[in-house]
Amino acid sequence: MMPKNHPTHLSDIEALGKIYRLYDDYMNSLSFACEKFCAECCTTAMTLTSLEGRFIDHFLDRQKKAVLYQQMRGHVHTPRYQPALTTNGYAQTCLENKTPAEKAPPEPSLPCPLLENDLCAIYSIRPFGCRCMVSFSKCRKTGSAHIDELTLTVNTLFLQVIEHLDQSGFFGSLIDVMLCLEPDPAHMTKKCVTIPNRPVTQLMIPPEHREKIQPLLDTLNHILSRTVQG
Ligand code: SF4
Ligand code: SF4
Repeated sequence: MMPKNHPTHLSDIEALGKIYRLYDDYMNSLSFACEKFCAECCTTAMTLTSLEGRFIDHFLDRQKKAVLYQQMRGHVHTPRYQPALTTNGYAQTCLENKTPAEKAPPEPSLPCPLLENDLCAIYSIRPFGCRCMVSFSKCRKTGSAHIDELTLTVNTLFLQVIEHLDQSGFFGSLIDVMLCLEPDPAHMTKKCVTIPNRPVTQLMIPPEHREKIQPLLDTLNHILSRTVQG
């Protein structure tokens, strides 16, 4: 086995950065209606893994980090989506032919705490759940996002792989995940609700998308094979 600091090895944070870049490059070849200051999709219904929370923490400077955790503490009582299943949990439930028991997000969803004047305060390091919020038509005109089946499959594949990469971590809303990652012992709270991540047992790729998705899957497998768990 190669040593942990071998140059071909990746930390989980580095691997996640590569996964985000792979996805962004793929999506840049498509034409969506999404643009700057369009932010109806930025709500407290957005979810992420703890690795993605650590990714945000890792790339913020000390001052911005302090502001972010302070903001999250201020939202401890804000109504938000607290999922009952992760993506891989959902896949496993379907595999067992059971009906997934998912909680509905509180209605209406409130704006994401990191939305400032319709812009994301952490845009370059935003979680995958934000990156994959795309639509071929303006949500404010049509009332909801419109994407094709293949994009939906690609999004699900990346969600499953990111959760797999963080299989010893946890999953929840932005507020819950960041509250759980609170670095200051004086501010730690038990009011964050998250659920454990799971490894992939079955990828949710319909047969008709297999061939188109294979190059992405190969690259994702290569990234995972080089990753040393943190
Ligand atoms: S998903 Fe909808 S609300 Fe979000 S940026 Fe795209 S068009 Fe705008
Ligand atoms: S983190 Fe940024 S991109 Fe994601 S929902 Fe919040 S404001 Fe929008």
